Amino acid sequence: MALVVQKYGGSSVSDAHSIKRVAKRIAEARRAGNDVVVVVSAMGDTTDELLDLAAQITPLPPQRELDILLTAGERISMSLLAMAINNLGVKAKSFTGQQAGLITDAVHGRARIVDVVPSRIRETISKGQVAIVAGFQGVTTDTNDVTTLGRGGSDTTAVALAAGLQADVCEIYTDVDGVFTADPRIVPNARKIERVTYEEMLELAASGAKVLALRSVEYARRYGVPVHVRSSFSGATGTLVVGTYGDRIDPNAPSGEEEQMEAPIISGVAHDRSEAKITVVGVPDVPGMAARIFEVVAGAGANIDMIVQNVSAAATGLTDISFTLPQGDSPATMAALTAVQGEIGFASLQFDDQIGKLSLVGAGMKSHPGVSARLFGALRDAGINIEMISTSEIRISVVTRADSLDDAVRAVHTAFDLDSAEGEAVVYAGTGR
Ligand code: ASP
Ligand code: MG
Repeated sequence: MALVVQKYGGSSVSDAHSIKRVAKRIAEARRAGNDVVVVVSAMGDTTDELLDLAAQITPLPPQRELDILLTAGERISMSLLAMAINNLGVKAKSFTGQQAGLITDAVHGRARIVDVVPSRIRETISKGQVAIVAGFQGVTTDTNDVTTLGRGGSDTTAVALAAGLQADVCEIYTDVDGVFTADPRIVPNARKIERVTYEEMLELAASGAKVLALRSVEYARRYGVPVHVRSSFSGATGTLVVGTYGDRIDPNAPSGEEEQMEAPIISGVAHDRSEAKITVVGVPDVPGMAARIFEVVAGAGANIDMIVQNVSAAATGLTDISFTLPQGDSPATMAALTAVQGEIGFASLQFDDQIGKLSLVGAGMKSHPGVSARLFGALRDAGINIEMISTSEIRISVVTRADSLDDAVRAVHTAFDLDSAEGEAVVYAGTGR
């Protein structure tokens, strides 16, 4: 029989009734003869509520204390879930991240897993019991303090445990039936993707698709963990995240080439509302200016995404440089740039947090010309202005006004024939918060 790691997100365990429902699924998987390890997130919007609570105490809580606070959310759900499973006559035990052997670095709030030593988990499943593990947390050996892995980090806990235990599959249970060609909350006739490569899923997650946390996909690719994204509310098979684009070519087909033509060119359309744009206006167009500006930006700890530099006006010899970054990194970055305005000699700074980013992702675009033209044409027909553009081998991203982002996503989804004929995708739960 198989060793299965199952992860249940917050919307799947939002109240006592949901916890009992999930417990039934887990008990069934165990009774079917599988070894079962479960990773669970905090109930519903608990993590956000704890953050709100901390903000009422102080605007800048110490990171160490914030981590201890947030890990409480997962302790509540893990213990309740273990109780519910025991109630069904199946033995289950819950463990904190530390007890489960999730060792991280010491970066509070976004710690990285450096090792997984799941001896207590192995011991538990070898006795035929279900092990429940609190997601999103670990311990740093530097100080023995509790750490958290960053928002959405329970996915990473699950994939890391699956890798550490050499599980057969890591099942990520959520409130939709899998990975869709766009967020079903915005595009109701989005299509479920049956199978997606690690590379494409990485680009989708990095471009704002929230169905899987980015780090969990990086981890899955590094260790070759097959990930199955599916709903805890239905029995439908979900989306398999496995392999590389080449694997999609059917080896039994008469000609590999033909099969590849049939593989979809585009996997999906992701969107992101969490970034802001800073424009440095009137930068002297001489060597070294971009280097100096981005040294300052990096020094402020900002993780920049897109960059655009205008052609300088010959008359003035001045240029404008715009870049995007997470909204949360903006205040420190604006302050750092303002401090060097005299030294660099730029005219002014503009800040804009009313932007949205749309990304079209698909491994097939490598070998298909005309994808950008079709994307830009769809936006033109919808009357949407493009402010910035960037590309990778398998992605094209554009920045638009935030309030036209939803329309842009729908227009592009239709233009690439991604709309499903089978009716609307179901969103079973969750506030999308
Ligand atoms: N509870 C944490 C969060 O809301 C971790 C997770 O859900 O994966 O971000
Ligand atoms: Mg959550």
